[in-house]
Parts: sequence; structure tokens; C-alpha cells
Amino acid sequence: MSRERRLIVLGSHNKGKLRELRAALGSLPIALRGLDACPEARAPEETGEAFAENARLKARELARQLGEWVLADDSGLCVDALGGRPGVRSARYAGPGATDGQKIGRLLGELSNVEEPKRGAAFVCTLALASPEGVLLEVRGACRGRILRQPRGRNGFGYDPVFFCPDLGATFAEVSIEAKSQVSHRGRALRALARGLAGLLERESAMEQHYVGIDLGGTNIKGGVVARSGRVLCFTSIETQGEKGRDHVLDRMGRLVGKVRRAAKLSPKQIAGVGIGSPGPLNIAKGIIHSAPNLPGWENLPLAAEIQRRCGCPVVIENDANAASLAEAIAGAGKGQNCMIMLTLGTGIGGGIVLGGRVWHGADDIAAELGHVSICYDGARCNCGVQGCVEAYASAPATVRRAREAIAAGGKSVLARKGDKLTCEDVFKAARRGDWLAQKVVADTIKFLAVAIGSLINVFNPDMIVLFGGMTKAGDQLFAPLRREVAMRCFGIGAKRCKIVGSELGEHAGVIGAAFAAMQHFEEAK
Ligand SMILES: [Zn+2]
Repeated sequence: MSRERRLIVLGSHNKGKLRELRAALGSLPIALRGLDACPEARAPEETGEAFAENARLKARELARQLGEWVLADDSGLCVDALGGRPGVRSARYAGPGATDGQKIGRLLGELSNVEEPKRGAAFVCTLALASPEGVLLEVRGACRGRILRQPRGRNGFGYDPVFFCPDLGATFAEVSIEAKSQVSHRGRALRALARGLAGLLERESAMEQHYVGIDLGGTNIKGGVVARSGRVLCFTSIETQGEKGRDHVLDRMGRLVGKVRRAAKLSPKQIAGVGIGSPGPLNIAKGIIHSAPNLPGWENLPLAAEIQRRCGCPVVIENDANAASLAEAIAGAGKGQNCMIMLTLGTGIGGGIVLGGRVWHGADDIAAELGHVSICYDGARCNCGVQGCVEAYASAPATVRRAREAIAAGGKSVLARKGDKLTCEDVFKAARRGDWLAQKVVADTIKFLAVAIGSLINVFNPDMIVLFGGMTKAGDQLFAPLRREVAMRCFGIGAKRCKIVGSELGEHAGVIGAAFAAMQHFEEAK
């Protein structure tokens, strides 16, 4: 299980500064990025009168533009005999475009009549960290010394060759970067930043509310802690062990909530709720599973109450395919789409309909049984008892069945050798390699799916249809002909509008969606 790192953007293009920050903050749970990855961002002019003001201004403005945490810095030299100059305007002291040599020359000229004891100066540095809401942290570092009459040393930059540091017994330009950073203004500010940031991250993570998502399957139970943004803080999968009985599985689910919470280093108070994605049919308002085909003995079970009693958190349940669809719609492939439909292609065909960021449940929480869209009025018998459902034609087992039937009817194919071990993946693979029979079977699977999807487009006029599950691994072998077939089977405007794409969240989708379902449920109840 792994913890998500907090992203901090450095408000600068300077690669050296980024390296320096990485070295100073390397042990903290953060990810650092320079500004060049965000070309649309524009650093504001440094207009403040002092370094601290400049650093704050830059951090605040960039954080607002980027919507991320931004770290900005400003530093320079303050010379006592010049009333603080050139510190307050060091970057512009010798005019725009001045070289380091010209700046040093001007400074030494202005100080030529100043006696040794009065040549005191300090390098100062301010680092400011801001979120889009405002400044979070500001730290400063200073190093006192004096201005020499002649430059000394070739390292460093800016005023380094004329700044004598008593702690080093040398100018900044005469020592290594490592030695300089031990006593320099930047080194001190960076160490203060590391301390302040560690405290800030600790306080932040102690405050933030999270949701636990549980994805209950016949074989595995997946669980994770999900932040409000959809970030998965930790994720794990355990065996369901359904054969050991209902209470055994319920106990495992209850313990899993505590396990993922501790792995994410959260206190019990930080878990605002638990969402469970469960096979159905369900009564969501009452938290009851009516039945679960892969979990014998789960008839009319008050699942939400049972888990709530075991983990001490409020619990809400959601249909598993609906949960995965909600996750894709909010944080995955369908992000930003108003009307998104997802189809899960696997042993069965399931799905979810998400309208304006909400799952469409229907009157009895059984909406979006998309595998049971009829494509033939007197067709093959489906597991649900009805004839002609798309699941009876285009699911993975149905695809294998049609391949077997074609071989039994005398068709020649490399698939004949697979016998009982034939899988849907084998059929797609053989089709890619030019096996004629497999190509016909795959083309039919795609045609059957296209008929169902065409109907969905005519009914919902969706922005996007997301396909999820093993069959989507076929990539363009599936998607390219599917898009062509769909376009022939529904209104042109709807077909043109609707993007047909694969899922983005993969195995995390069920857990993220269950947590989102809990978030929506409990935050609306407040
Ligand atoms: Zn059916």
C-alpha cells in the first residue's frame, strides 16, 4: 500500500533551484515540479518593496492561477551603509540586463569611501508557500557578513565574490556549494522550510476528511482510502472467502476498513464515511442486498448496518457497476462530461448511467442493467431468464460460445485446438492473426454491442460511452470497428457527439466510486 504525495510547484523555471529543493525536502511526502510544465502560467512582476513581499506575491498569484500549492522565493543582499540597498531592489540595482560584474562594479563604487567597520551587509532569503486560498507558510534565512574592496573567488554568482562570510572565513565565491549552503541565507531558509513543511503536512493530513471505498466481489474484496479529490491514498485487495459463510466475509470487510485507515495513517475521526460497491439488486436507501448470485446466503441482508456495527463508521451501499461508473464520470475518462454511460464487458455485461455527476438509480435501484438491453425479440436465452439480451450475445462467455458453435458446425479455425480452455481473449488474438472464423465471431460481437450502444445513444444522447473490462484490452481492434458500426445504428447527431472510449481508472474504479457514493450521500445529508 502506498501513500499519495502532495504536489508542490516551484514558482520558477530554474532547474538548479529545483534540484536544490529536491535535496532539501527529499524526505517529505511531496512531489516537486518546476514551472516549465505549465506554459500557460505567468509569473507576476516582482513589484514588492521587499523580498518577503515579492515571494508572497509570486506564490499567491501562481497558486491561484495553477490551482496547486506553489513555492516561490526571493533573496538578495542588504548593505547597511546604503540603507538596505541593493537588497530591496537587487535584481534591478544596476539597471535591466546588467551583468554580475557590472552590478559588483557599481556596488564597490558606491562603497569606495566607506570604512571597513561600516561595510556590514546581510544576504537574506524568503521562501513563501501558498495554496489557491492564500499563503500557508513563510520562512526566512539570513547570513551576516561584510562587503570586501575586491572580488575574491570564482564560484557562486551575483554579489558572492564580494561578500565575506565570517563563519566561513571566506567569500561565498571561494567555497563549495555544500560549504556555502551550511551557513548561507538560502541554506538556512531551506532548512526552516523543511521543518515548517513537515509540520504543515502533518496538520493538513490530521484535518482532512476521507472516505473508505470497498468493492465487494465474489472472488476479491478491494478497499482503499480516497481523498475528496479522488486521490487514492492507499489500496489493497483481499480474498472474499465467501465459502466460509456470510459472517466471515462481513467480519473481513469490517476489519478491512480499519486496515486501510491505519495504512493511510488516519485517525478514526478522519473517516467521514464508508461506501460499499456491492453486487445487486439492492435497496440503497435501506442499505439492503436483496440477493448476490456469487455469495450464497446473502438474501435480504442489511449490509450497511452490519458493516457499520463492525467498523463504527456510517456506511452507504451502491451497486458495484454504478460505483465504477461514478468514479469514471467524476475522476476518470468521463471527467467533465455531463451525460456518461459506462458498459462493463466481462463475464456478464453491466453498466451505469451518470447524469450531471449523479448515478441514475431509477425507482427501485435497478436502472442501468445495460447487459439486458434487448437486441433480438426471440433470441438466445439470457441468464436473467429473458430472450435476446445483449449479454447473451456479446459477453465474454457468449463470444466463446459462438466460436464453439461455429467450429461444431464445421468451421475451420486454430481455435479448435483450445477445446474446453478457449477464452474470449483467444478469440480476439486469433482474429488479429487472420483466423477467418475468429474474425467473423469478433465482428459479430462488435455488431451486437453496436446495436445496444446505438439504442442507448438514441435514448440518452450521451456525451460519452466508456467501456470497461477485459474485452477493452483489445484496444483499436474493438474500438475502431465499434465506432463505425455504432454510427450506422443511431441518429447521426447522437453518434457524432458521443465519444466511445476505454476506462481510465481500471481496478481502482470500484473503490473510488464507492467512496464517492459515500461522499455524495453523507455530504448531502448534512
Ligand atoms: Zn438478460
